[in-house]
Amino acid sequence: MRILIVEDEQKLAGILMRSLKGEGYAVDSTETVAEALDLVQSVHYDLVILDLLLPDSSGTSFLRSLRQQQQDVPVLVLTARTDIDAKVENFEAGADDYLTKPFAFAELLMRVRALLRRGPVVQKNTLKMADLELDRLTRQVRRAGQRIELSPKEYSLLEYLLLNPGRVLSRSMIIDRVWDHSFEGFTNIVDVYVRQLRKKVDESYEPKLIRTVRGLGYSIDLDAGQ
Ligand code: CA
Repeated sequence: MRILIVEDEQKLAGILMRSLKGEGYAVDSTETVAEALDLVQSVHYDLVILDLLLPDSSGTSFLRSLRQQQQDVPVLVLTARTDIDAKVENFEAGADDYLTKPFAFAELLMRVRALLRRGPVVQKNTLKMADLELDRLTRQVRRAGQRIELSPKEYSLLEYLLLNPGRVLSRSMIIDRVWDHSFEGFTNIVDVYVRQLRKKVDESYEPKLIRTVRGLGYSIDLDAGQ
């Protein structure tokens, strides 16, 4: 899941970025409407977190442009304004949710999760394959009914695989979706994480679900066969 933060208050943007990355999301950030519009054209985002007062233009005008371009990415608006007129204006411009500054990070996180679950299309709460289950709201993973503890990145990787059952995902697709713009490591980071994930969700269970497709990447599949 990849999130774009559009916020010119550097301290807040920094906190949001670190916290959301800590939850395993891929996060990019920008301070201007112009750059945000460029980014949403070239990168697939699952959510935009949008401040309203930005140096070059308003968040509301960004929202209008976004919706005019038929971009249906969910947008969570952050603002210091509490008046109803501002709220109505932004909902009309295409905001999906609203949070008034200052806010508790725990609340932001619940709203982020709810919006990501909703997504541009109706998405299911629970992703399943065989006896493997991932709950997108509580972020709990179970195999054969047993709870499995995953790190945030392992969770994001598994979620991405389960959202694309049977589809081969290349290392660069995985990096693009699970890591973020600032990531400059090697694509073998994916192999490292897949190995860890397999150890947790596949090693002691049958059938094996995560499949290596030589030269191409990985998929999650009922006939993984190894
Ligand atoms: Ca601002």
